[in-house]
Amino acid sequence: MSGVNETFRDSIGTITEKGTRNWIFAKRPSGKLYNARTVVSIIYVLIFFTLPWIKVNGEPLFMLDFIDRKFILFGVIFWPQDFFLFVIGMLTFLVFIVLFTVVYGRIFCGWVCPQTIFMEMIFRKVEYLIDGNSEKQKALANSKWNLNKIWRRAAKFIVFFFISFLIANYFLAYLMGMDHVLGYIKEGVARHWGTFIPLVAFTSVFFFVYWWFREQACLIVCPYGRLQGVMLDPNSIVVAYDYVRGEPRGKMKKVGESPKTGDCVDCKLCVHVCPTGIDIRNGTQLECINCTACIDACDEVMTHISRPTGLIRYASENNIARGENLKLTPRTMAYSTVLVILLAVLAVLLSTRKDVQATVMRVQGMLYQEQANDRISNLYNIKLINKTRKDIPVTLKVENEDLGGEVKVVGNDIVIKAESAGDGVFFVMADREKIHNRKNTIQIGVYSGGKKIDAIKTNFMGPGNR
Ligand code: SF4
Ligand code: SF4
Repeated sequence: MSGVNETFRDSIGTITEKGTRNWIFAKRPSGKLYNARTVVSIIYVLIFFTLPWIKVNGEPLFMLDFIDRKFILFGVIFWPQDFFLFVIGMLTFLVFIVLFTVVYGRIFCGWVCPQTIFMEMIFRKVEYLIDGNSEKQKALANSKWNLNKIWRRAAKFIVFFFISFLIANYFLAYLMGMDHVLGYIKEGVARHWGTFIPLVAFTSVFFFVYWWFREQACLIVCPYGRLQGVMLDPNSIVVAYDYVRGEPRGKMKKVGESPKTGDCVDCKLCVHVCPTGIDIRNGTQLECINCTACIDACDEVMTHISRPTGLIRYASENNIARGENLKLTPRTMAYSTVLVILLAVLAVLLSTRKDVQATVMRVQGMLYQEQANDRISNLYNIKLINKTRKDIPVTLKVENEDLGGEVKVVGNDIVIKAESAGDGVFFVMADREKIHNRKNTIQIGVYSGGKKIDAIKTNFMGPGNR
């Protein structure tokens, strides 16, 4: 960025030149945006801990069971046969993320990402409560082990571990269903190793991330963060420092005193509150998770020195450099078009998705059979997939009224077991006099409990007397 007092570096801010960790002791933020983020976080956490308890028709409202490949979204069960829906859904989601990032930058990271919400709004707050403010935290970290340090570290360890364990239980409930999780709680670990082992693994991972790894997850691991460089452009809205207004930075001068400085009084409060340890005045950096703490901090300073707020604010590079407002770029329009098309395809596929899927094939190598009473028949195989969690008895009906055909199932009535595939064999019988062509198109209706659940078109072969 031109005009910024830049400090170049070729390493991330949390790693020292020697390669060791530069531990961040972020000052506790406060202000309008922090309050708004707290409200959003409370709603978010409430939703996170409530959803696994909600059931629709005896099924969880949400469950992503990757092991058994069963996915329930808003009470609708998706099976491996619906994989194409999943792929289109993921593509739509990806385009949405890219489009959103092109226009609004990393707003997702600061306001919605679970890593930021749990780290900044739960674990960091516990830390302030037990260890005190950032100065006290730093002093404690640098102090020798004594009773004060031991009890604070022990208390923090216990609370962090307990919250990690709680999150892991709920995380597992999203993957396996709350019934599985409650099962191991009621019946004991010995009977539920399959639940307990992943639980221990998830608890360990969460504890490690929130106790030690922290912002490194955003800086090193998160692929979304790594993609910012290619997604952001000069029109993207990011948390940005207004260098036009702020520079040259320096201590406030009395009226008439020279040289005249910009609005930035170089108090470095924006740096002290940053949980990733960067100076946003150096321009957009990959470490910035758009948490808005620096906006609140700088607004407080500006209010204090009677200058307009917004020296650090949500803005695009073009907004700061040229005073331009948000505008639609060709890239934004192209992404939007693709997104609308994908959403439309997804909506059509979802609305036409069936709980029972049927495929009917005429038995190969047989034309037709002569039957009594001057009737002829064709033999068919039917394959059915039941995506629901109840057994479905199925009846079949020929729907071409002109044909007057009837279905005769070979063997027992067809019942498809819950969550599985089934098959059957059946004849379609018709009066010879009504079959005029050699190849006739017929429609077989698949019914359950008097309700039509599918319809399949197939061929009926006749002697072809016309
Ligand atoms: S908080 Fe504002 S005034 Fe203080 S250093 Fe940061 S940008 Fe400058
Ligand atoms: S620069 Fe500001 S918005 Fe970005 S991570 Fe630091 S405090 Fe948060």
